[in-house]
Amino acid sequence: MKPAPMEYLAARSPDDVLDALADGDTAVLAGGQSLVLDVVSGAARPRRVVDINRVPEFAGLSEDAGVLRVAPLVRHRTFESDAVGGALGDMLRIIVRHIGHPPIRARGTMLGSLAYAHPAAEWPVVATVLGAQFDLAGPGGRRTVAAEQFFTGPFQTLRQPEELLAEVRLPALPAGTGAGFAEHRRSHAKYAEVAAMAAVTVTDGLVSAAVIGLVNVGPCPVRARAAERTLIGREFCDAAITAAAEAAADLDAQHPAEGRDQRRAVRVLTRRALTQAREGW
Ligand SMILES: Cc1cc2nc3c(=O)[nH]c(=O)nc-3n(C[C@H](O)[C@H](O)[C@H](O)COP(=O)(O)OP(=O)(O)OC[C@H]3O[C@@H](n4cnc5c(N)ncnc54)[C@H](O)[C@@H]3O)c2cc1C
Repeated sequence: MKPAPMEYLAARSPDDVLDALADGDTAVLAGGQSLVLDVVSGAARPRRVVDINRVPEFAGLSEDAGVLRVAPLVRHRTFESDAVGGALGDMLRIIVRHIGHPPIRARGTMLGSLAYAHPAAEWPVVATVLGAQFDLAGPGGRRTVAAEQFFTGPFQTLRQPEELLAEVRLPALPAGTGAGFAEHRRSHAKYAEVAAMAAVTVTDGLVSAAVIGLVNVGPCPVRARAAERTLIGREFCDAAITAAAEAAADLDAQHPAEGRDQRRAVRVLTRRALTQAREGW
């Protein structure tokens, strides 16, 4: 199928991008790994695309006072390197390898993935469970939205068509945190059918903090709070992992149509993610 004709604009500055987006019918071209496929299939028919790849201000990644700041052109691949230190860097390195395959990770961007909001994507659940903050830049200036509010449904977010996702801020994880990620997928060229991520902090032999996120079990990323609560204050032992995996699987009561197979997958994958997290601290 031939894509519909559209205008192409190569932006040179953040203002060029915002000026282009002001018409409400312009799509941002970042890594192009989702947008180009959607344009070719006819799923997206913007009047114009604004290519942000030549805007130097969008290339930055920095750590500042315990916060990782990610700009729109930071590619997935960056998180495979040692660009991010500490326990957060370890967690991102574990998770990024599950995004597509190397050419996709070389072009695709973290902010593009967050803006796209695929229900099976990895970064949205990471941002949600870590309590990331998103900056949206638009004609009226900037506004900040918490990740937990940003995702409103599959491929739906609070972003308005005139807005650019300009920066994402992820809080650092404390020392003593181990992370894990486990997924079920049919091939490397496909998104996960179901996945679970975990980051668990152990202080003086007991779990002092835990986040558990589930991918593709609901319309938006799911934070398994009941499962997290089962871990707090306990030794990070097999019994604690089993209890947390049971509690995570119970979350599916909110999505009964998905049934027993998905509950089983959540239980198994949460257990694997937590076991990996225990090995990592
Ligand atoms: C074969 C294949 C397998 C894949 N597997 C996975 C996977 O397992 N897990 C996963 O998470 N992803 C996967 N992806 C998608 C990949 O992660 C994409 O890189 C990502 O979804 C979009 O990032 P992008 O930078 O390529 O954005 P683009 O494709 O350029 O843009 C995607 C959408 O976001 C908008 N957008 C981009 N940046 C911004 C911004 N800063 N502000 C506002 N809007 C913006 C665009 O206008 C467009 O609507 C896969 C892709 C392919 C082709």
